[in-house]
Amino acid sequence: MTTARTPAGPLESRDSTPTPVVADEDLLLRRRVREALQTDRLPPRAPDRTWGGPGSGAACVICERIVSPDEVGLDLEYEQTGGTVSHPAHARCFLALETVLRERQLPPKAAAMPVPLRESE
Ligand SMILES: [Zn+2]
Repeated sequence: MTTARTPAGPLESRDSTPTPVVADEDLLLRRRVREALQTDRLPPRAPDRTWGGPGSGAACVICERIVSPDEVGLDLEYEQTGGTVSHPAHARCFLALETVLRERQLPPKAAAMPVPLRESE
């Protein structure tokens, strides 16, 4: 006797790694952004349009993790020769992308020079 069992309800995403809100995570994401830009997964500019909403279940173009429906996802649209290209991304990954793009727009001198902290007047 074979009874095919189909899972009931939506699949739970069993992500064993919780994502704590720490600066390390942002650093890692920014590194991922640079990788995505270097390997031409993303054009080196801000998207022409962004659409927000629940994740579509597609892999994020930046961190390559699934943007699940219970997360906020963005579609990054780029106008390119041949049509519009859309890349799914997490809202957080998109923030990292914006940060990296902004850094790149700074003159090299300013970007390379850390602002010294003044201890006292
Ligand atoms: Zn992501």
